[in-house]
Amino acid sequence: MPELPEVELVAKTLSKLVAGRRIRFASLLRQRLAPHCSPEEFASRLSGSQIEKISRRGKHILIDLDRGSTLIVHLRMSGKFLLTDAEIELPKFSHAVFELDGDQRLVFVDQRHFGFMRIVDSAAASNSQELAKLAPEPFSDEFSAQYLKNVLQNSSRSIKELLLDQTKVCGLGNIYAAEAMFLARINPLTPANRVSTVKTNRLFSSIRDVLREAVAFGETSKVDPENIDGSYFSGGFEDRWFVYDRENKPCPRCKTMIKRTKQAGRSSYFCPKCQRR
Ligand SMILES: [Zn+2]
Repeated sequence: MPELPEVELVAKTLSKLVAGRRIRFASLLRQRLAPHCSPEEFASRLSGSQIEKISRRGKHILIDLDRGSTLIVHLRMSGKFLLTDAEIELPKFSHAVFELDGDQRLVFVDQRHFGFMRIVDSAAASNSQELAKLAPEPFSDEFSAQYLKNVLQNSSRSIKELLLDQTKVCGLGNIYAAEAMFLARINPLTPANRVSTVKTNRLFSSIRDVLREAVAFGETSKVDPENIDGSYFSGGFEDRWFVYDRENKPCPRCKTMIKRTKQAGRSSYFCPKCQRR
């Protein structure tokens, strides 16, 4: 599942490729992709609009259109965009199609069917159900060491679960949460309100560090316009992970074997020595 850096890459790539272009016609091929509107409404609200700006909020992509609507997109497990020539046959699992000027089209393809789209009024986008409760952006001033401390002190859930809660800390998923906890030397099972101030401060910096490094990596990677999925795995980014997906491999700091445990149904990776409870 793409996390903040990957979604940032998708938003930036789309911005380069389609910002300023006009959607001649939009069609929703799989109704459940946009459960809040009918295919007719999808077509009438988007067709004829010019794409003004493409940005990111948390793990959502925001496509602002000139007629006052914003299309909110969440890629979830496998959603991706393809920019192709208009004549090419639609690939399997095409769930939405945007016919663009210049005889091209932007296709949303989603093999796992978890992707999500919603059209909202741009002026009220930040109040939408998807965005209203999101925690501050990790690189904003609002997200501070003090903010993180307050959030941690008010929860007895494990620090891992808290870091994945987008209403508390925004942008992290399983990968970058594991990496940030490793750098901060925090065991993922530790209750959030038992994390010391020293470790909380370290965690604040490490969250920004891991995200910043991944965003920077994204800026160097070449994205195929016919496969805009924001995946770093094919770009070799997994070689840089300290603990994520490295069960039984040596910790880069102390050479102890990395352990994997299940938390809320998902794998957590950590060094049992560096990240003692
Ligand atoms: Zn270690």
